[in-house]
Amino acid sequence: MKKMIIYLDLTFWQEIGVLEFMSKLPARVIDYSNYDENMEIECSICNRKGTPKTSGWIDTDSHYCLSVSCPVCEKMILVANYASA
Ligand SMILES: [Zn+2]
Repeated sequence: MKKMIIYLDLTFWQEIGVLEFMSKLPARVIDYSNYDENMEIECSICNRKGTPKTSGWIDTDSHYCLSVSCPVCEKMILVANYASA
């Protein structure tokens, strides 16, 4: 019985941990119409704050979206979809 309780607690903890993990990791996705190279964005990994312009890491190679990555930890922090309509 004791083992069962520990197991359940662990599972619960892991689920909470995973949810928190998932909510922090994905890049923020916005419409391109809301994109501004001077908008302030914060890296979810290292908490660096700055604008896409100051990050200097704007990737426009894709035909579908523009992405901005963190210059400190290389995490993709913002995705702007060109056409959602
Ligand atoms: Zn970062």
